[in-house]
Amino acid sequence: MSRRTKMIEKIKELMYQPKFIRNIGIVAHIDHGKTTLSDNLLAGAGMISEELAGDARSLDFDEQESARGITIDAASVSMVHKFDNNDYLINLIDTPGHVDFGGDVTRAMRAVDGAVVVVCAVEGIMPQTETVFRQALKENVRPVLFINKVDRLINELKLEPEELQNRFLKIIAEANKLIKGMAPEDKKDEWKVDVTDGSVAFGSAYHNWAINIPIMQKSGINFKDIIDYCDNENQKELAQKVPITEVLLGMVVEHLPSPLVSQAYRVPTIWDGDIETEEGQAMIHTDSEGPLAVMVTNVSIDKHAGEIATGRVYGGTIEKGSEVFLVGSHAKARAQQVGVFFGAERVNTDKVPAGNIVAITGAKGAIAGETICDASKKIKEFEGIEHISEPVVTVA
Ligand code: GDP
Repeated sequence: MSRRTKMIEKIKELMYQPKFIRNIGIVAHIDHGKTTLSDNLLAGAGMISEELAGDARSLDFDEQESARGITIDAASVSMVHKFDNNDYLINLIDTPGHVDFGGDVTRAMRAVDGAVVVVCAVEGIMPQTETVFRQALKENVRPVLFINKVDRLINELKLEPEELQNRFLKIIAEANKLIKGMAPEDKKDEWKVDVTDGSVAFGSAYHNWAINIPIMQKSGINFKDIIDYCDNENQKELAQKVPITEVLLGMVVEHLPSPLVSQAYRVPTIWDGDIETEEGQAMIHTDSEGPLAVMVTNVSIDKHAGEIATGRVYGGTIEKGSEVFLVGSHAKARAQQVGVFFGAERVNTDKVPAGNIVAITGAKGAIAGETICDASKKIKEFEGIEHISEPVVTVA
């Protein structure tokens, strides 16, 4: 069996175990490193298709080169990551990077349970960082923090270990102030990011390394060592010791919730139907046997397959060839193909159960924001998405 076939088999196995799924978004102020991070995570997880990577034995560097920009147009990319001897399926859903698309960011937030908020260490928390925090927290999406471009603090600003730490503490304190102010009432304390428990990491997306306090303790690498690696232009070795993919995906698995955990508290916020109904209970429990409930987050056109609707399955299972109902458009459609993602590639399958991200071919007329259910079991629509945009800045 080729590596690709094995990986696809693994994804198809994991999609039935929501405990081992993480649906996440990466969000950031423009230029803080969202694209670089997404591309390098995908390359590091070995999810670049063989055609793109040359062949499976190609050097890491070539993989990274091939990865550049690959996540930009993808509605979703998926990775398999091993953590504590278990494999996890990590679906990274695209969240548009520009504030003009504030509505799209919110829509994408609806498909995820957790967010990696990227903050540039040089600029710190910026207005759009605040906006993305607000968008995530309003949708009950739990955040973790990645402080990026730490190499620049060392190589350009020449900060000493203590100054580095102070800079991080300031960013963390500001992030926690936002979380405290905007998180759901019962999550304000639980969702605070904490440098000691590893829900904050710092590193360089560009140079492919990241670290957090628990990993510093395990690896014996301290701030002084990091400064030396950067000063000596030896970040490549640092990237081998503390690869960004390991650290960041480890943080995602450990600190961001699975659909099983998150749907229980998220569904009442995003769907105002009756939770006691069969469909309500299926969504609360991520039950793949219950009535179908899909929320579409992105529609794109594929040269060969036509319209592809990507969305989150909250309840039930969507099956290839089944007749579905588009609640908002009051129209029936046939799900000609259903698929999941392998890296940035769509892979068709027979069924996609609750807790996953699905790509549906044939849902003609579906638009982002649409609710899809069984043709024979109509359900209430997901709640309308409120547009959250940038605070208005008046220039005198
Ligand atoms: P996005 O707008 O958030 O997607 O940001 P990009 O990923 O496109 O990054 C913006 C710029 O910052 C690009 O020129 C990247 O090469 C650069 N960049 C990203 N991460 C790092 C980093 O860790 N260190 C340095 N020095 N540059 C970085």
